[in-house]
Amino acid sequence: MAKSNHFLTAQFDQHAVDNPTHDPTHAPTLDPTPIQRLDLAQVAPHAYFIHRSRRRTIALIVQANNQIEVRCGLKTSLVLIEQFVKSKQSWIAKKLQANKLLIPVDPGTGRLYDHLRQETYARVTAILSDYPHLSPTQITIRRQKRRWGSCNRKRQISINTSAGLLPPELLEYIVVHELCHLEHFDHSPAFYQYLLKHLPDAIARQKQLKRYLII
Ligand SMILES: [Zn+2]
Repeated sequence: MAKSNHFLTAQFDQHAVDNPTHDPTHAPTLDPTPIQRLDLAQVAPHAYFIHRSRRRTIALIVQANNQIEVRCGLKTSLVLIEQFVKSKQSWIAKKLQANKLLIPVDPGTGRLYDHLRQETYARVTAILSDYPHLSPTQITIRRQKRRWGSCNRKRQISINTSAGLLPPELLEYIVVHELCHLEHFDHSPAFYQYLLKHLPDAIARQKQLKRYLII
């Protein structure tokens, strides 16, 4: 089974992308070809791998890690494969949407981890300043294997360091969720009412957050 990494490169203007000044055989030019801005979403909406084998049919697979694979015969032409993938764009998009997005518990060690922790702390602090009437006694940013955040009876809030890797609106959801626990220490309807008062689209954000898995 041959495996090749096919990124629809045929549609790229390779000369426009290459930087000729690093090639000694190219004389420096005063008027270099401007680097084309490629609309990758249009050129290669979804890069995919091709697995060739002695099969007669062509199949498309979206793996749990979001890798897209085309399985086809040994001689299936690239044109046919591209046409096939193009015709399945909306199906691919749906599959990717359903897939979990993985967020590492340990996003690096040492300085890399410290850097993320500081950044998460700064972002959390900025969010807190938007809700001055809800003030925790302490904010801790730390590694947590299963939770994005927590709040205890001492009004201390703890946020997962890796939450700093999430889109801003989801980090805000996590922080505001914990802040609302300062008033309602449960997940009662009263809690949700209070949460919705602060974040009217909290339910949509909660749903989005479920797509992310801490690993
Ligand atoms: Zn909660």
